[in-house]
Amino acid sequence: DTAPPEPSPPTPQSVLEQVFGYATFRDGQQQVIEHLCDGGDALVLLPTGGGKSLCYQIPALVRPGTAIVVSPLISLMQDQVEQLQAQGVRAAYLNSSLDMDVQMQVQDTLREGGYDLLYVSPERLLQHHFQAQLQALTVSLFAIDEAHCVSHWGHDFRQDYRMLGQIKRRFPDIPVVGLTATADVATQADIQAQLNLQSPLIYKGSFDRPNIRYRVMSKYKGFDQVVAYVKQQDGSGIIYCNSRAKVDDLNAKLYRQGFKSAAYHAGKDADEREFVQRQFLNDKVDVVVATVAFGMGINKSNVRFVVHHDVPRSVESYYQETGRAGRDGLDAEALLLFDEKDSARVKQWIEQGENAERTDVELQKFAAMESFAEAQTCRRQVLLNYFSQFSDSACGNCDICLDPPKMVDGVVTAQKVLSCILRLEQQAATQYVIDVLRGKQLRRLQEAGHDQLSTYGIGKDQSDSYWHNIMNQLIHQGLIRVDITANAALRLTEAARPVLKGEVALKLAVPRLEFKPDKKARHA
Ligand code: ADP
Ligand code: ZN
Repeated sequence: DTAPPEPSPPTPQSVLEQVFGYATFRDGQQQVIEHLCDGGDALVLLPTGGGKSLCYQIPALVRPGTAIVVSPLISLMQDQVEQLQAQGVRAAYLNSSLDMDVQMQVQDTLREGGYDLLYVSPERLLQHHFQAQLQALTVSLFAIDEAHCVSHWGHDFRQDYRMLGQIKRRFPDIPVVGLTATADVATQADIQAQLNLQSPLIYKGSFDRPNIRYRVMSKYKGFDQVVAYVKQQDGSGIIYCNSRAKVDDLNAKLYRQGFKSAAYHAGKDADEREFVQRQFLNDKVDVVVATVAFGMGINKSNVRFVVHHDVPRSVESYYQETGRAGRDGLDAEALLLFDEKDSARVKQWIEQGENAERTDVELQKFAAMESFAEAQTCRRQVLLNYFSQFSDSACGNCDICLDPPKMVDGVVTAQKVLSCILRLEQQAATQYVIDVLRGKQLRRLQEAGHDQLSTYGIGKDQSDSYWHNIMNQLIHQGLIRVDITANAALRLTEAARPVLKGEVALKLAVPRLEFKPDKKARHA
């Protein structure tokens, strides 16, 4: 009798095919997987959807023992574990959401070596008791998902994550891999240092999403602009607002106009949120109006547009949110509505923070976001440079590349605005100044006698949106300041004086105002 052949030990390729059902690795996966299988540390920086999970799941199945995966969100743990179980992988999670007896059961199975992967919260991994348990086990590797949470530079810093550096000290011979979709240089260096990674392999994928067209417009009547924009679109989209109230209002407005839209935010109960998500996934709902609560775990490939009605707090958030468009590789668009007033409000809000260090970081993050919105050069370059993926050529698929701003002499235009602000004694906010400039027949103007001002009607040849845009440029150039403490009244700065007197030159970009149907430049 011949004994049956020994089953050959699993290899990365055999696991890829037999467990996950894929034929080939994506860029970077094989390199990272082999490095981990050989016992090395690694840092993986890949955009969302780039395939980070397999980078640790395959080594977990190739190396003997149990892989410990740290994840910050209970819902993400559950999803991952359910998927793995469906593929026949011995996986489980351990966190405080489980009943005590279930936790005991999981720990028993763990002790018997019954898991290939165990997902845990950072708190759990930091418990002495749990670490003692791990000392008695064969651990194949530690994977730290969403590793940017260790960094103060990350947008969602977690104190528990900060302590995960202990792991490498306690278990020096076990490979550790950090994974994240955040790739600015400061965060990357911080992750490496905080996790104590030992000469790690660093794999950084491309952050470019060439099929997404980036576009920024100045916001003057946000809701109306969004409605006009959505009217021109085919297919599904997401519209982000920064408050639940705005989400509900904008959704109601779209819905009344006959769009198949739905609202999503953390104020809705779980059933309703799940329903909206499912309807969107199944193309029953075309447009979801949402707060940032809508996102993590959305796996819809044919999202054609993402609109930001309000400016995000960081480039990372903006990148993640816009990254939900065009996962199928077909043309998609990201539109940001930007208004200097919003921007002033956000800064004021950040400055009210308790923690000074945190406030500084957030202000810097927001400054980068502002400079993206205000860029007069290729937006994609600004974005990729931020993620230190330097690119020296313009992309040809953003608003700036497709329609470069034309700079013209702006002295007379600026003087109209500045003198109007002055005549209104620097007490009026943007819209009021515009109403006067355009000579609108409004009762409140007449009652205040402002229809008698010399500047009344001097700007009637242009639209509201034109003046909004010009005023934003003047704010950006430092001639006007928005006084948030006085109902957003516009004040002149020192720099305005020489312009008013005609002593200096001033260039302004010709405003881009309409949602022109595009000259469709295809990406390569
Ligand atoms: P990330 O964690 O980076 O956001 P995931 O690990 O969730 O990305 O992977 C995104 C999607 O790509 C998943 O549906 C996954 O199954 C798929 N995927 C990953 N690697 C491969 C591969 N080598 N071949 C085909 N599909 C893959
Ligand atoms: Zn460009």
